[in-house]
Amino acid sequence: APQINLPELALVALVGASSAGKSTFAAQHFLPSEVLSSDFFRALVSDDENSLEATQDAFDSLFFVAGKRLERGKLTVIDATSVKPDARRRIVDLARAHDVLPVAIVLDLPRSVLEARHAERLDRPFSAAVIGKQMAELRRTLRGLQKEGFRQVWVLRTPEEVQDVQIRRVP
Ligand code: ATP
Ligand code: MG
Repeated sequence: APQINLPELALVALVGASSAGKSTFAAQHFLPSEVLSSDFFRALVSDDENSLEATQDAFDSLFFVAGKRLERGKLTVIDATSVKPDARRRIVDLARAHDVLPVAIVLDLPRSVLEARHAERLDRPFSAAVIGKQMAELRRTLRGLQKEGFRQVWVLRTPEEVQDVQIRRVP
């Protein structure tokens, strides 16, 4: 099985379109308190986890908390789509500011898988076209992740790979 050797102190970006399985993956591999989800912070500031209007306040809050965790030497996972270079730059900058390793775990599964999952969800009111746009943005920019500053870039491309991957924390 593929193995991800994660530095004990890292800022981990889960990267992937909506319904790629980021939150599910996070729950399987990390403590709830290690995972900072953009939806959770949208809800915290606006009572609506899908509120796009709250994006700026949600991310400001998320990054504030992430910075506090890194100051305390706590591994932190950012559960947001992060399909755009601008969104990822903020993550890399924060990691650098705290002298921790920025790591990207990319869930780049087939579009058909994401659309089938999306169709089953009641908590994502937007159209599947949104997923297509996010996937296109990700695939257009995926090759650049290392250059953006991520020190490790792991790309999982099938449900089987996602299922089998092991995460080990190394000192
Ligand atoms: P969003 O960006 O919208 O928050 P997400 O990337 O966090 O999406 P999840 O909420 O983790 O995606 O998963 C989307 C749906 O797909 C959920 O209904 C979840 O149960 C299902 N799912 C996620 N991972 C798997 C998996 N490995 N096998 C089967 N179903 C999965
Ligand atoms: Mg999610």
